[in-house]
Amino acid sequence: MLHCDRCQAEIPASEAHDHLGQKLCEDCYMDTLSPARTCDPWAVHSAKSMAGTGAGAAELTDIQRRILRLLAESGGLPMDELCRRLEMKPADVERQIAALRHMEKVRGALVDGVRLIRLW
Ligand SMILES: [Zn+2]
Repeated sequence: MLHCDRCQAEIPASEAHDHLGQKLCEDCYMDTLSPARTCDPWAVHSAKSMAGTGAGAAELTDIQRRILRLLAESGGLPMDELCRRLEMKPADVERQIAALRHMEKVRGALVDGVRLIRLW
């Protein structure tokens, strides 16, 4: 077992990299190849925008997540039942449902003459 000359990490001889006479581990060797990597504004920028996209679920509020969970568990609930389980006023629930419907997360469905809110 060798030790990296920079970070002192143990490295198998087969993974040691020679750099200017030093024995370096993989990480330290990569650092010497791209010294600007850690302060590259583009790397930071793209990491941030990656976090912002594709994470649609992260934009849901706690209430909206609870609604989706209730609907997933029940297979669909009428509005008054949903209000009862959430312990919220119908007007407030309606507003959340409208937002979720806009996101195409839920939709209204008529089942045996009863209007249910169901997952999309
Ligand atoms: Zn190292």
